[in-house]
Amino acid sequence: MLMSPVEFFRNLPKKECPECGQYVEEQAESYLMECERCLSKKVE
Ligand SMILES: [Zn+2]
Repeated sequence: MLMSPVEFFRNLPKKECPECGQYVEEQAESYLMECERCLSKKVE
């Protein structure tokens, strides 16, 4: 039986920042793994 899209997305693991372990809100730039705080630290 196919999962409904809602069930599918609910079962996806939340994105977690590998730097600080904080959950990252889904963003348009989904390739970004770090949270905004850690990303800003990396900006040179
Ligand atoms: Zn972080």
